[in-house]
Amino acid sequence: MSLVIVGSVAFDTIETPWQRKEKIVGGSCTYCALAASYFTRPKIVAVVGEDFPRDVLRFLQKRAIDLEGLKIVPGGKTFFWEGRYGFDPNQRKTVQTQLNVFQDFRPEIPPSYRKADILFLANIDPDLQESVCRQVEAPRLVAMDTMGLWIESKPAALRRVLQNVDILFANDEEIRMLTDEWNLVKAGKKILAQGPRVVIVKKGEHGALVFGKNLVFGIMAHPSEAVVDPTGAGDSFAGGFLGYLDKVKTFGRKDIRRAVVYGSVLASFTIEDFGIGRFRSLTKREIAARFLHFKKLVSFD
Ligand code: AMP
Repeated sequence: MSLVIVGSVAFDTIETPWQRKEKIVGGSCTYCALAASYFTRPKIVAVVGEDFPRDVLRFLQKRAIDLEGLKIVPGGKTFFWEGRYGFDPNQRKTVQTQLNVFQDFRPEIPPSYRKADILFLANIDPDLQESVCRQVEAPRLVAMDTMGLWIESKPAALRRVLQNVDILFANDEEIRMLTDEWNLVKAGKKILAQGPRVVIVKKGEHGALVFGKNLVFGIMAHPSEAVVDPTGAGDSFAGGFLGYLDKVKTFGRKDIRRAVVYGSVLASFTIEDFGIGRFRSLTKREIAARFLHFKKLVSFD
């Protein structure tokens, strides 16, 4: 099995009510690949500038992430995003976005990636997501993420991508924007009528809701006293979820439910430090322990 992830590798400036960190490494692809690397050997497709730190590339390689599809643009500047959080970690404001090398990025899937079993279209321009879909031969599972920016600015392209994916990851605000429906159960059903077989509604510090044919499943988020930086929680969720499915190779209802728990586990670790910091020390043993903790949290007779 193999998992290909297409998305952003970025510099982020993050401000929380307690701290500000300038130009740390982030990006949807980075978080997703790191989370997935605990289960499989993800292959990434992304672009960075020459300013991107080599030691971070070495770290990604050390985590067995395949960088063949990562383009380094000579003299280019890496995509930059600045976000600010209030006291409610679910509410964030984009302060600025500088596309830089992303402006002219046309993702090219290396031949060694084209037979991928699972394809994840992380949050990027839906036109680019569409071009990637055309390059991967016969994936068994395609999943996508998006954001308000694309729902508002490129609704037609987004709908086309949606028709061709199996799983949509979206937060509650995005799913309401996509469907014009306030009730999340009704909104989930509306999405299921548009293409995806499964919709995963991420509810930040309140967990996630999963809708599919004959499937409704909910998981709470790990109750954490130390939310340092909520950035990347959504992408880490997708990485844990898809990495696990790539490992077990089957996509039944039971697999999906377990994958959702692994997604929540990985997201819960990511937010314990700024940027990708927590992945520097995170071990498989810690992941296994938190998975069991989740089981205890939600089980009752
Ligand atoms: P998440 O917190 O999981 O929703 O993802 C946060 C990551 O998304 C940050 O590390 C940003 O670098 C990245 N990001 C923000 N805006 C965009 C955008 N317009 N295109 C691609 N990636 C973005």
